[in-house]
Order: sequence, then C-alpha cells, then structure tokens
Amino acid sequence: MDTPSTPPWQPPALPSFDAAARLRIVLVGTQHPGNIGSAARAIKTMGLSRLVLVAPERFPDREADALAAGARDLLDTAAVHATLAEAVADCRLVLGCTARSRRVPLPEQLPREAAATALAEAERGAEVALVFGRERTGLENEELQLCHGAVHIPSNPDYGSLNLAAAVQVLAYELRMAWLGGTPAPGGAPARDPAPVPAAGGDERAEPASHAQMEGFFAQLAETLDAIDFHKGRAPASAMRKLRRLFLRARPDVREVRLLRGVLADAQRMARLAAGGQGQGDPG
Ligand code: SAH
Repeated sequence: MDTPSTPPWQPPALPSFDAAARLRIVLVGTQHPGNIGSAARAIKTMGLSRLVLVAPERFPDREADALAAGARDLLDTAAVHATLAEAVADCRLVLGCTARSRRVPLPEQLPREAAATALAEAERGAEVALVFGRERTGLENEELQLCHGAVHIPSNPDYGSLNLAAAVQVLAYELRMAWLGGTPAPGGAPARDPAPVPAAGGDERAEPASHAQMEGFFAQLAETLDAIDFHKGRAPASAMRKLRRLFLRARPDVREVRLLRGVLADAQRMARLAAGGQGQGDPG
C-alpha cells in the first residue's frame, strides 16, 4: 500500500535578519588562526556577519582563510582592534563568554537567555557584543570587568572548556533560534513573545549608556573617590571593581549617567573648595 508522501520540510519565509548588523562577535587574543576561520564560518552559517578581532596572534593567515571556506568575506571585513575596550566602545550591551562558571564576579546567563537579551537589544537599535577569550587562558579579569554579564555554556563540569569556534557556534545558533522564535508564525502572531529587555532606568525611550560613556563615568568616579579621600590609604582597585559591577548591573541610561556625572562634578568641586579652604587657613 502506498503511504502518502510527506512533503519535504520547507523553511518559513523569513523577514531579513536586520538586527544581525548590530550583533558583533568579538574574539580576544586568538592564538590559532584556524579558530578565527572556523568562527567566521560558524557565524556566517547562522546569518551573522560581523567579526571583530582584538590583538589576534596571527592574522591575516592562510589557515584562517582555509577554515573559513565560504565565509572568507567575513575575514576580509573583520575589524581589528588593539584592545577590547576599543572594540566595544560603542556597544550598549557587552556579554563575555566564559568557560569558568561561577568564578566570575558577574551576573551569569545561559546561552539561550543571553541570545534573547542580545537580540532584543539589537532589535531596539543598540550595538551588542558577544566576547570570546583566548584558547589557553580565556578572558582576563580586566576584560570580564568590561562586560555587563557573563555567558556560560553548561558543559561537562569535569571537562567544560569548548573549542573557541565551537563556543562561537553555540552562541550564534542560539541567536538565530532567538530570531526565528520571534518571527511571525503562519497565523501572523509572533511565534513567542519577544525576549524581555532588562529595564534601563524605567524610561523605555532612554538609550542605555554606551560602553565608552560608562568608561567616562568610571574614570570620573575614580578621580572623585581620590579627591574626597574615600580610600584612606587602601588600594582603590577593590572598591572600583565592586562599584563597576554595581553600575554595570544597573545598566543606567544616557540621562542617568549624565545625572551621576553631575553629582560627581559637584563632589569634585566641593573637594576643591574644601582643599582651598584648608589651604587658606594654613599659617603658611
Ligand atoms: N582555558 C580557558 C578556555 C578558553 S576556551 C579558560 O579556562 O577560560 C576559549 C573561549 O571559548 C573562552 O574564553 C570562552 O569565550 C569560550 N568558551 C569555551 N568554553 C565555554 C563554555 N563552556 N561556556 C562559555 N564559553 C566558553
């Protein structure tokens, strides 16, 4: 008896993946050029196109070209920066992927949640970075401190470190799935609700501050703490680390950062006045 043949599965017609233009995959200090090529292939297969390299050990390189296969165009257009701070200066969300779960002083997300958050931010027009570390040593603590959150692929706790390009593939796949999940189902309604976007200070219209704006604020905060003698001889690094974590977690918007900087400017002015007042009182 003939069984009715099932028509082959057809992918649904998709709107263009516009948010992909604002999603960058950043590879920091990559040691093996082959991994850069494989990462390019991994992201192009998932509809992403922006590869950013921070101080790669060898690039451009024949091995990268060979492993990129049909994704060599992403290597040709890859931006190369000297530091991570430079590579993410215009980003409003920076997520660091780390093999070391729970040893990171940052809020941690699973790839699925992180992809939903990243996509929602990119769809709101923000520049978003997913950051991957070196093959041998991962991301340095100072680099993780530039991130709003950490992403950990819940791998085997006894052998949990994926190959760099494999980790990139997992995140790129989740970004694609998040996007597919948000595209209209045949009935016209989204297949699922869009991912919740972390509140940026309660006012939906205000843009979260960019990485560079946050760094400007942190620099002024450090100066102010010095000016008001907050540290009293203790090393400033530990307090700054905790304050960075606090403010990055809060994800202040542009206006809130302006307000905070106004407060700091006044504190700095008062500190100068106090120092001047003391100076005047000095017998000489
Ligand atoms: N020995 C290094 C492993 C680096 S693997 C370490 O302990 O950190 C290279 C990069 O791939 C990592 O920096 C990270 O960005 C990514 N990666 C590997 N395994 C991962 C995992 N389980 N979860 C998230 N990212 C991972």
